[in-house]
Amino acid sequence: MILCLVEHTQREPNPFSLEALALGRQMAGQVGAPLAAVVVGAAGRPAAEALREYGAADVHLIADERLDAYAPEAWAESVAGLIDDLGPQAVIAAGSDRGHEVMAHVAAITNLALATNCLSVEPGEAFLVTRQRWGGSLLEEARLKGPVKLLTIAPNVFAAALAPAATFAIHETRPALTDNAFRVMATQAAAADAGRLSLADARLVIGGGRGVGSAEGFRALEELAGLLGAAVGCSRAVTSAGWRPHAEQIGQTGERITAELYIACGISGAMQHIVGAEGARHILAINTDPDATIMNYADYAIIGDLHQIVPAIVAELKRAKGL
Ligand SMILES: Cc1cc2nc3c(=O)[nH]c(=O)nc-3n(C[C@H](O)[C@H](O)[C@H](O)COP(=O)(O)OP(=O)(O)OC[C@H]3O[C@@H](n4cnc5c(N)ncnc54)[C@H](O)[C@@H]3O)c2cc1C
Repeated sequence: MILCLVEHTQREPNPFSLEALALGRQMAGQVGAPLAAVVVGAAGRPAAEALREYGAADVHLIADERLDAYAPEAWAESVAGLIDDLGPQAVIAAGSDRGHEVMAHVAAITNLALATNCLSVEPGEAFLVTRQRWGGSLLEEARLKGPVKLLTIAPNVFAAALAPAATFAIHETRPALTDNAFRVMATQAAAADAGRLSLADARLVIGGGRGVGSAEGFRALEELAGLLGAAVGCSRAVTSAGWRPHAEQIGQTGERITAELYIACGISGAMQHIVGAEGARHILAINTDPDATIMNYADYAIIGDLHQIVPAIVAELKRAKGL
């Protein structure tokens, strides 16, 4: 059996978990084993039901209301308990913050090896994996050994796909969890500003860097974003200067975007920024420096002063829209 840990938000499976499930389905086919999923938290039942369409024949729902709040150790104990009960060949999770944290606890509890941020996996006696390290600037090939292989997969590598399972069942379990397992748990979740596009989901993102020059300089980027239905993001130079909130930071220590187009204005393209931006399908760089590092990643570039270029685009869009 290949077992996938599926995170869920607002009772739907998380898109990155569906990518993990797609890899799980591929591996299950390769090793001739069934594909199963684990959904943590009683409120996850609708998400568990939705997995019927994604090829999981069996979904194990950890139906303990206390687990509806994120509690990494308790989630991990639940997954470790399932490993004991089911004896899967591999457990796969999304390479998300939660996926990594829970799987690290699972590895510590079970004393099994964990390979994180995998880009490819070849099953065998030992699994041959290629994994991202150092924010994606290094690819490592590794052999993953042990009776149960633990993996997380890098986001945006495998495509989630509908593949209804021939049979489908949800199995509820309530593992005995000690109070100690709830030492760390999320007590509050801050909702995103109503009406504000989330950076992670936006199809179009306008990013501003140090080249924007000031907090006021972002007004033109906001206006452009408003006209295009885009979200605004920024570099760490900008959040460090206090021009924009950390929630808008793109990069290694910020958000990872998956937009169709990322318009990077006055951003040099440091590796720590690119890690968050490279999930975008296309990058348009606006920069005065034709040799800026971001040119190595950009599909399109406008070499020039963003303080002239952005207002010119805004004016043209307004003209075209008759505003
Ligand atoms: C551990 C660690 C984690 C980090 N995490 C992140 C992270 O998550 N995200 C992140 O972004 N950074 C991160 N950084 C910082 C990163 O290394 C860079 O310092 C930062 O990304 C630089 O921001 P920038 O491109 O806005 O500024 P700069 O590197 O100063 O680049 C400014 C760019 O603007 C251009 N420019 C200037 N004026 C104009 C103009 N008028 N019109 C057009 N172009 C103009 C310049 O040519 C230049 O290319 C991290 C660093 C470390 C050490």
